[in-house]
Amino acid sequence: MNLVVQKFGGSSVKDKERIFNVARIITETYQKGNNVVVVVSAQGDTTDDLIEKALEINEHASKREMDVLLSTGEQISIALLAMAIEKLGFPVVSLTGWQAGFLTDSTHGAARIRRINKERVDNELSKRNIVIVAGFQGINRYDDITTLGRGGSDTSAVALAAALHADLCQIYTDVDGVYTADPRLVPNAHKMDEITYDEMLELATLGAGVLHNRSVEMAKKYHVNLEVLSSLTQNPGTKIKEVVKVEKMLIRGVARDNDVARVSILGVPDQPGIAFKIFSKLAACKVNVDIILQSIGRDNTKDISFTISRANKEQALEIMGDLNQQFGANGVVCDDNISKVSIVGAGMQSNPGVASKMFEALSEANVNIQMISTSEIKISVLVALEDSDKAINAIHDAFDL
Ligand code: ASP
Ligand code: MG
Repeated sequence: MNLVVQKFGGSSVKDKERIFNVARIITETYQKGNNVVVVVSAQGDTTDDLIEKALEINEHASKREMDVLLSTGEQISIALLAMAIEKLGFPVVSLTGWQAGFLTDSTHGAARIRRINKERVDNELSKRNIVIVAGFQGINRYDDITTLGRGGSDTSAVALAAALHADLCQIYTDVDGVYTADPRLVPNAHKMDEITYDEMLELATLGAGVLHNRSVEMAKKYHVNLEVLSSLTQNPGTKIKEVVKVEKMLIRGVARDNDVARVSILGVPDQPGIAFKIFSKLAACKVNVDIILQSIGRDNTKDISFTISRANKEQALEIMGDLNQQFGANGVVCDDNISKVSIVGAGMQSNPGVASKMFEALSEANVNIQMISTSEIKISVLVALEDSDKAINAIHDAFDL
């Protein structure tokens, strides 16, 4: 008998019709002879609504109490879904995170799963029950309720699949898989049949938005067979695994991230220790830096530029303002009218010419590149925000995706 873990996101259970739709998917899987464990998120915008409610009462509510509150969203979903499955005449039991054995660390609001005690779930499965588990939550070692961070139910599902040695972990959402680019930006983007964990990780961090990052990391680590598919269509989804069949395709997808600001400090002394001073100060203030560019020294000075998330802009400017004085540099400039456009593909590791093809496409589209960064399976360029749609489409066409 196979064991399948199925995860349904908030939009897939947002109302009565959707709940019954999901109940049917689950019971069909069960009827085929599989054991089925289901992880669900809170319905629709429930989590956002709960956060708003909390803010009305206390803007500085403790993270512990926030977790007590937010975990209720998922508890509603598991009960309603279990009731729907009962109504369809199948044996079912719903379990909160702690009942299902999710033990986490104590970082309220962003807890990490330490371990899953799977006795209860195993026991229910041996009775041939369908098991519905609340995603996004667990308890710490003091029995306090914790949550895993926004979008964390994906991670709950993958962790459970890993702990139970499930044959398959299906993540149901409202898109039918992972696309070569965001279909809203690139009209001829298409769905991929398969993608590697590494490629998916890059796309997830680039804001492709289909899967919670940590869930992909965990799937890779524990070799969980992952599949992303839609709860609203019967279309086959995208499979995520270690290696995918060898294709001539060099790159897998194009993504963009508009949450970028570029900060430059001009005319800093061209001497050892400057970069260290800048980036250690930023790190100490928990400002996460992405792309870094340093110009070649000229007249004993050089320029250093880096990108950060827009939310960190004010803080970074304050830090850099201080350093500007300290170094006697020529000023700090910032631009947040920019976008990071990236291509991702395991195939580029062993193939020359991928970067040049990307740059050719951008040059033909008359898009100026401001900064470039590369990793083994990714090339990112910084372009003006107004050029970003044009850039993605040009690249998507150039690589025949
Ligand atoms: N309900 C939580 C959230 O909205 C967890 C999840 O959806 O995965 O972030
Ligand atoms: Mg949600």
